[in-house]
Amino acid sequence: MILLVHILFGVAVGSLVNNIPLAIVFAFLSHYFLDLFPHIEYNIEIRNKKQWPSSAKAMAGRQGKLWSITKIAIDFLTGVLFIFLFSKNQPINYICAFFAILPDGITVLTNHFPSKFLKPHNKFHQEKIHFLKYKKISNFWRILSQVLAVVISILLLKF
Ligand SMILES: [Zn+2]
Repeated sequence: MILLVHILFGVAVGSLVNNIPLAIVFAFLSHYFLDLFPHIEYNIEIRNKKQWPSSAKAMAGRQGKLWSITKIAIDFLTGVLFIFLFSKNQPINYICAFFAILPDGITVLTNHFPSKFLKPHNKFHQEKIHFLKYKKISNFWRILSQVLAVVISILLLKF
């Protein structure tokens, strides 16, 4: 799921308990819970443009990367804005947000710096939890799941 959804849901779940360590654990676990549902994710990979000259490929690669980073930044900042707008704006809310996106951070880290220690986490996160990723489910459901998660989170934070 996109970061905004993870951030908001993690903050909402964390706000349900009045115990800081428990709120952090819940926020962290909420990531895996949400990833169980069908959802669309960023397409960070650049399509294989074999016939392109290498200079054009390098250019497309750079633009693709820049656009990916821009998307992630917008996604993340919207998440922070939503915490600001909808939560009680306590430090714990931001700590929960951090832990709610930590599994994706670990996965990106492992992809760039493969380590024996972190690999089992990627297997769990990318294969076991994302078991619906390669199933035929329309984008309607893959988007609706995230919209619902956002709505539920805002309701939890507001009431
Ligand atoms: Zn994830």
